[in-house]
Amino acid sequence: RFISLEGGEGVGKSTQLRALAAALRARGHDVIETREPGGSAGAEAIRSLLLDGDAGRWTAGAEALLFAAARADHVAKTILPAVARGAWVLSDRFLDSSLAYQGGADGIGEAAIRQLHQVGSDGLMPDRTLLLALPAEEAAARAAARDRDGADRFGGRDAAYHARVAAAFAALAAGDPARFRIVDATGTADDVTARLLAALEGL
Ligand code: C5P
Repeated sequence: RFISLEGGEGVGKSTQLRALAAALRARGHDVIETREPGGSAGAEAIRSLLLDGDAGRWTAGAEALLFAAARADHVAKTILPAVARGAWVLSDRFLDSSLAYQGGADGIGEAAIRQLHQVGSDGLMPDRTLLLALPAEEAAARAAARDRDGADRFGGRDAAYHARVAAAFAALAAGDPARFRIVDATGTADDVTARLLAALEGL
């Protein structure tokens, strides 16, 4: 099984990925935790190219290509081998992040991002995508509290940018209800983990 966790900054994706993996392991499953950009040696090297340096280091087009290249390596070296041996793969972000950030908010367009994904990763899609959703004010407050701003090249994005990302994620989920589950990210961490587990029903 291949599952992606998606959402904007501050929704608690990384914490929840760990908790969900632990819950699945407690049920006897072989679970791989991975992330994007990254998740394989080559993709982690590309992650450094993406996150380090000045805000203007790459054009939007170059950035979209780097994300797609990282994903291609991640799919080939980590995701497909794990799925083939019967593991559950949980990925912190996948294609939908590129559709929302590079495709939507950066203006590259969804069709172009899907084409890059076809070329690089043979169009691989998750069996299920869990979209963690928070009201915009709460996401902003959480993101500020963890003081990520300035931590990487993407720290300077403004509220309007994050609103475009959130709208793009919502549209993606609405367009593919068979794959997506929108999960309420408010409440305690345990509440959210329980909702995520429930959203894996059927797998
Ligand atoms: O998942 P995480 O928040 O650690 O992602 C690292 C950074 O990369 C974030 O600032 C995120 O917005 C950005 N990102 C992006 N486009 C992607 C994936 C991540 O801009 N496709």
